Amino acid sequence: MTLFERIIAREIPADIVYEDADTLAFRDITPQAPIHILIVPKRVIPRVGEALPDDQAQLGALLLTAGAVARQLGICTTSQGFRLVINHGKDAGETVPHLHVHLLAGRPLSWPPG
Ligand code: AMP
Repeated sequence: MTLFERIIAREIPADIVYEDADTLAFRDITPQAPIHILIVPKRVIPRVGEALPDDQAQLGALLLTAGAVARQLGICTTSQGFRLVINHGKDAGETVPHLHVHLLAGRPLSWPPG
């Protein structure tokens, strides 16, 4: 069972901000910005590069949830805004093998990223 499956099962506590049938969103335990939310599919996909055609609905649900969370937090504006990040593999910084979208906001985010 992945760490995020244990959060989905409420075995590990998390600050949950949104839930629907396919996805869960909760605050990152080590925030990299004033707002740092993780959005995960309830059915595990290990990482984005291993997603299959059958995962299409789950993948779409992640982005729809990201938008819903941004609207809920009041950051879905062009003046403020937010960034979505998916890390695949070691060089990208992936540490949990359960696909997740990072939603970062609340400060100016530099580009290109590090
Ligand atoms: P990644 O490095 O892209 O795999 O992202 C994994 C993220 O999970 C990191 O940003 C961690 O800070 C976060 N994380 C690890 N454990 C927890 C936890 N128990 N609750 C919330 N976020 C966590």
